[in-house]
Amino acid sequence: MRFRYSTDERGRPVKKAIVYTSDEHHINSFDVDIEAVRIVGRLKQAGHESFIVGGAVRDLIVGKKPKDFDIVTSASPSQIKRLFRNARIIGRRFRLVHVYVGDTIYEVATFRSLRDGHNGNTYGTIEEDVLRRDFTLNALFYDPKEQVVVDYVEGFKDIKTRLIRPIIPLSVMFKDDPVRMLRAVKYAATTGFRLSLPLRWKIKQQAHLLDTVSPSRRTEELFKIINSGNSFAIVDQLLKFSLYQYLQPNAVSMMSSDAKFKNLYMQSLLALDQLIKCGKELQSGEVISYFIRDYLNTIVDWKQEPFEAYRAALTACRAYVLPMNPPRIELENAVRLLFREHGIGIKKARTFEKGRNKEAIPEPANEATQVPGSQGPKKRRRRRKNKPT
Ligand code: ATP
Ligand code: MG
Repeated sequence: MRFRYSTDERGRPVKKAIVYTSDEHHINSFDVDIEAVRIVGRLKQAGHESFIVGGAVRDLIVGKKPKDFDIVTSASPSQIKRLFRNARIIGRRFRLVHVYVGDTIYEVATFRSLRDGHNGNTYGTIEEDVLRRDFTLNALFYDPKEQVVVDYVEGFKDIKTRLIRPIIPLSVMFKDDPVRMLRAVKYAATTGFRLSLPLRWKIKQQAHLLDTVSPSRRTEELFKIINSGNSFAIVDQLLKFSLYQYLQPNAVSMMSSDAKFKNLYMQSLLALDQLIKCGKELQSGEVISYFIRDYLNTIVDWKQEPFEAYRAALTACRAYVLPMNPPRIELENAVRLLFREHGIGIKKARTFEKGRNKEAIPEPANEATQVPGSQGPKKRRRRRKNKPT
């Protein structure tokens, strides 16, 4: 174990961070994305500090393959942009850089400062940056060339003892950003780590702050959850912490009055997780279809004229998923997929492209047809039976 030092006001060295070497952190360098290593390398070569940071380091330490690699650096956005051919500065408030390599986007952020609080928009040092991160397990820096983990907050120890502990003081943590409550519970569900007692207590006390979060941010969080491949475990935990009602109030109220509905809902999430985990390419609307299918089955009168039934179901589902506001075409495709499972084909609205505008226009004579060879409701039952429990 080594240490990183900085100096105090009188110029004396002060221990600031623990540095773990590869025999201590045991990160398998083959699990580290080669392009992320290249990006960090180029930044360092140009004289800047740079690390892989956040969830990727956490996942590498627990031996899980990270889903993305975020990079942090002392270089400013314009300095970063100059170093990469395929890079774009994004964000109006806090600018960061997207580096494009093939189909993958690497997010490269400049260290943030604490000057104007934990949510401010000024650039700072690594020592300030670490204090703006939400939990210790997300605040480790990995240098892939030296193969060391730099730890300012005892996050490595917390990962080893399976503890989720806040960095930002709890007095401002959730007031500044209530979404951090969802993040805490999400990490507990996906890692199996326990939340520290003060953290649990604060979440119970301040859950209501999630009401103040914009629908678009809530939609974004919910989308991350349902696309994670762990939606069953995450939603289960969010329900236990009484947080899911801020994402899906209608579903929660149906679940609390109908245990059978809750069971079906959770089974659908489990089936969705399996689908995502096996890496199958999903079509537009497919993820959402798992998410609304049990509701849709309670409201649709399958004997109704099909297109009328489809239109009514679409309207009802749009209201059901509020405050989530999924792209219109995704929801339409989801409802269409579910009708297809019942043997009813609803023709897609015609789309036309003009310049860069892509817009879906409803066809006046949207047709409803029986899907050839479909077995109607029977097929659906078979699907249910096959769902893992
Ligand atoms: P995931 O595996 O879901 O991507 P992650 O930890 O990488 O998890 P990101 O949303 O990708 O999460 O964020 C990257 C890092 O940025 C986090 O690990 C954390 O250090 C920091 N971070 C993100 N959102 C917040 C927030 N709301 N408050 C404080 N720090 C945050
Ligand atoms: Mg991430």
